[in-house]
Amino acid sequence: MSLIFLVKKDTFAFLSLQNYEKKPTFHICPLPVNENTTMLLFKKVELLQKHITWLKTKGLTIGFTPTMGALHSGHASLIQQSKSECNISVCSIFVNPTQFNEASDLEKYPRTIAKDIDLLASVKNDILFLPEVKEVYPPNLEEIQIQLGHLDKVMEGEHRPGHFQGVVQVVHRLLDIVQPHYLYMGQKDFQQFTIIQQMIEQTALNTILRVCPIKREADGLAMSSRNVRLLPEHRKLAVALSQCLAKAKEDYLHKTIEAIEQQAITTLSNIPDFKPEYFDIVDTKTLLPIKDKSKANGAVACTAVFAGEVRLIDNMILS
Ligand code: AMP
Repeated sequence: MSLIFLVKKDTFAFLSLQNYEKKPTFHICPLPVNENTTMLLFKKVELLQKHITWLKTKGLTIGFTPTMGALHSGHASLIQQSKSECNISVCSIFVNPTQFNEASDLEKYPRTIAKDIDLLASVKNDILFLPEVKEVYPPNLEEIQIQLGHLDKVMEGEHRPGHFQGVVQVVHRLLDIVQPHYLYMGQKDFQQFTIIQQMIEQTALNTILRVCPIKREADGLAMSSRNVRLLPEHRKLAVALSQCLAKAKEDYLHKTIEAIEQQAITTLSNIPDFKPEYFDIVDTKTLLPIKDKSKANGAVACTAVFAGEVRLIDNMILS
C-alpha cells in the first residue's frame, strides 16, 4: 500500500506556510512522511485550486489526466507522458454519473481505489484529485453549451444517447478546476478526444490536448477498465476486435469501405455471444463516412461490440 498525504484545510495552511515556501522548486510531495510518499490527495476543489495556483506562481507546468479509476497500464502511459512533459502530474478519479446512459452500467463500473493509488504511486504521479459528486456538480453550476454538430450523433453518440453531453460537462468542469497547461487523453476513445478538442476550441479554456496511443494486452485486446468483467471465454474471443481492425487496415487501400465494414460485422457477429453495434470507417477529423479516400483527412476504423454483457470499444488509424 502506497502512502499518500490527504490535504485537509489545516494541513494545507501548515504546508503552505512551512514546507512550500522552503522548497521553491518543489515537484514531489514536500512532506518527508516516508520515502514511499509520492502523492498529495485532494478531495476538495477549493484546496486543490489553491495548491495549483501556488504551483503556477513557482513557474511549474501542470499536466492533467482525467480518469474514472480502475486504472491499468493504458492510464499509466498517459501519466508517464504527462510526467515527461510537465513538472506536475495531476490525475483525477471520478466515476461521472452523467455520462452513463444506463444505471446498471454505472453501478457495475469497477471501483478499485487502493490498487489505483498503488499504480499512481508507481508512476510517480504527484497529485490525485478524488472528488465527491457534490464537489464536481455544485447546485449553482451552469451547463456549458458546445456546438458539436454531428460529432456526438454518430457511432458512440448514436448508441449511447446523452453520453457525450455528460463527458463534455465533466471534462469542462474538471479543466476549469485544474486549469492545466496540458490535458492527456487516450486514442482508445477516439470520438471522445475529437469532441473534447472541439470543446477546447470553442471555450476560453487555455489547455493543449495531447492524445496518447492505445495500450494493448499481449494478444492485441485494447486495455480497458471493463475487461475485468469479461467472462474467461469471452476474454479469449475478444482478440477478434483488434484482429478485425488490423484486417481493415490491411484491406483499406484495395477494397471498398463498404466491403471492409461488412466483412468485419460478419466476422464479429459470428462469434458466440458477441454483438457488434457498429464497425465504421470514418474521416479522422470530421468523423463522417469517407466518400473519396483521396480527399479524407485520414481514415480511422472504430468499433463497439458487446461481448456477453460487456461493451468493448476499439479503433485503429488506417491511413
Ligand atoms: P477512463 O478511465 O476509461 O475514462 O479513461 C481515462 C483516459 O484513459 C481516457 O482518456 C482514455 O482514452 C484513456 N485510456 C483508456 N484506456 C486506454 C488504453 N488502453 N490506452 C491508452 N489510453 C487509454
